[in-house]
Amino acid sequence: MLYKVFDDLYAFFWTSQTENNCNTYLIRGEENILIDPGHGHLFDHVLQGLSSIDISLDQIDAVLVTHAHPDHIEGVLQFEAGTRFGISRTEYDFIQEYTGGRHNLPKPDLYLTEGELILGGVHLEILETPGHSPGEICIYWPRHKTLFSGDLVFEGSLGRTDLPKGSASEIKESIRRVAGLEIDLVLPGHGGPVQGKNNVQQNFREIEGLFQYL
Ligand SMILES: [Zn+2]
Repeated sequence: MLYKVFDDLYAFFWTSQTENNCNTYLIRGEENILIDPGHGHLFDHVLQGLSSIDISLDQIDAVLVTHAHPDHIEGVLQFEAGTRFGISRTEYDFIQEYTGGRHNLPKPDLYLTEGELILGGVHLEILETPGHSPGEICIYWPRHKTLFSGDLVFEGSLGRTDLPKGSASEIKESIRRVAGLEIDLVLPGHGGPVQGKNNVQQNFREIEGLFQYL
């Protein structure tokens, strides 16, 4: 389901209860940036959403992924070489190691590292937030005080830490760190958004309440 969040931000929320896939987000600017394209075989919902706002795939300048789980990254294969692919180096190295180099992902054009990332006129901040996956990143957009949280945090819950190279102690530290940002909107990898500064802070408190079970 395509949802216009702001004039320059669209969300493709995945709402099926029967098949797992991630939410995808589009930042529109001088450059069009797609975050987490999702599963390859479920990419049609993104294509349809894009076509409803008259954007074709070759108008996507960059595809950024929060981490390398298949339900977030496979859609990268839908793009041609003209679209840049960004991922953290730690995460890319992790795929290389985990698959013994046997994967068909393109070589990254951008390594997403802690700090500022400017694409076109869009200023983003990358935060390295390991725990769910060793090289997971969150993307913070100061203009809208919006956090693209990948699988670090969701509405009322947090990412699993029992997958390869997951870490309960790291995810706690990562969550505490992003909770310190000024956030009005959390756009997670799965489920609905968390809107409003107070709701966002309350959500972080609820999640910290779950730390004792990790
Ligand atoms: Zn994941």
